[in-house]
Amino acid sequence: METCVFCKIVKGEINAEIIYENSHALAFLDAIPRAKGHALVVPMRHFENIRAMDAAEIQPFFEIVQKVVNMIKDSLKPDGFTLGMNYDRASGQEVDHMHFHILPRWYGDGGHSIQSVVANSPKEDLKLIAEKIRQAK
Ligand code: AMP
Repeated sequence: METCVFCKIVKGEINAEIIYENSHALAFLDAIPRAKGHALVVPMRHFENIRAMDAAEIQPFFEIVQKVVNMIKDSLKPDGFTLGMNYDRASGQEVDHMHFHILPRWYGDGGHSIQSVVANSPKEDLKLIAEKIRQAK
């Protein structure tokens, strides 16, 4: 996509600190890192989010996520990771080219667990929620 900043990184039109790439995906350091080694993995092709992604691209994409997690673990030796994606504006997605955040974590880094990004506990029964979701398959 012409205006997409991550497509421009994929095409080499914008510089980034690339740490890994293959024909499916590219991994580079986040320009405004929240932790040492904060990296993004993006598919080479422009998909806005995981729902839009070709099923055939899912497996190679997550293989690269695993590869980059291992590279960061072996090189920077974090104590752990927070791993995830923002999907759409409600979650904070700013760049509409799907990307997976790899956030290295250290004891005492001041961060929190991934569940703490939201505090919107449901009032409905879990069984009813689960049934609704199951019906959508
Ligand atoms: P999100 O809120 O998940 O869409 O996050 C987008 C991320 O992309 C942010 O953490 C930005 O710091 C990062 N980002 C935006 N532009 C660039 C860029 N040119 N190079 C590297 N990271 C970028």
